[in-house]
Amino acid sequence: SGRLDGRVALITGAARGLGAEYARAVAAEGASILIADVLDEPGEALAAELGERAAYAHLDVTSEADWEAAVAAAAARFGRLDVLVNNAGIANSAPIEHFTLAKWNAVIAVNLTGTFLGCRAVVPAMKAAGGGSIVNISSVEGLRGSPSLHGYTASKFGVRGLAKSLAVELGPAGIRVNSVHPGFIDTDMTTRIDPANLVIPLGRGGAPRDVAGTIVFLASDDSAWITGAEFVVDGGMTA
Ligand code: NAD
Repeated sequence: SGRLDGRVALITGAARGLGAEYARAVAAEGASILIADVLDEPGEALAAELGERAAYAHLDVTSEADWEAAVAAAAARFGRLDVLVNNAGIANSAPIEHFTLAKWNAVIAVNLTGTFLGCRAVVPAMKAAGGGSIVNISSVEGLRGSPSLHGYTASKFGVRGLAKSLAVELGPAGIRVNSVHPGFIDTDMTTRIDPANLVIPLGRGGAPRDVAGTIVFLASDDSAWITGAEFVVDGGMTA
C-alpha cells in the first residue's frame, strides 16, 4: 500500500517536466491524480499511462472558469480533493530597461495570479473535507535575486509569500500550505542553462525525480505538522 492511498491530487502544468514527474510519483504512492495543463496531447497521454486513477483536464491557470471546471471535474471523477500542487509556470528574462510590460504581465499572470486562483478554487472543497495540502512551486529565485529574471523572481517571491498568508489563515481549517524551491532542474524550461556553469555543492544539476520525493512528503501525513514552510531542493546551490 502507498503513502497516499485514497488521496486525490490536482497538479497544474503536469503534462511535462517537473509536474509530470510529480504526477507519476503521487500516483505511484496510491493517489488519484488530475493532470491539469494547457498541453492537451501530452496531458492525455500521461493520464492514459497512469491508468484508471488518473485523468486529464484542460486548465489554463489564469482562467477562473477553467479552475471552476477543473475542481468540479476532480469532484465528479474522484469524489474529493486533498492535494493541490501549483506547478504551472513560465520564465522570461531581460535587463530591466528592456523588460516590457507585456513580459511582466505574462509571467505574473501564470506564476503568481495562477497560483492565487488555484488556492482560492480548492479551499471550499478542502474545508468541507476537514483539511488538505497545498504546495506552491517557487524556486531558488524566490529566495534570492538573479539578473534579468525580474518578473520571474517577483512571481516566485510572491507564491512563497502567498503560501505563508494562507498557512496562517487556513491552519485552523486543517489546510497546510508550503512552498518548494527547486534549484537547476533539467527540463524544457532550462535548456539554455548549462549546469556546469553553476556552483552546485552536490556536483550535478537536478532531475525532476530529485524534487518529486519532497512533493510526495508534503502531500502525505508525514508532513502533518508542517505549514508555512520552505523546502529548498537545490543540491546546495543557495547554501
Ligand atoms: P516546463 O516548461 O517543462 O513545464 C511547465 C508546464 O506548465 C508545461 O507543461 C506548460 O504547458 C505548463 N503551463 C504553462 N503555462 C500554463 C498555464 N497558463 N496554465 C496551465 N499550465 C501551464 O517547466 P518545468 O521546469 O517543469 O517547471 C515547472 C515549475 O517548476 C515551474 O513553476 C517552474 O518555474 C518551476 N521551477 C523550475 C525549475 C527548473 O530548473 N526547471 C527550477 C525552479 C522552479
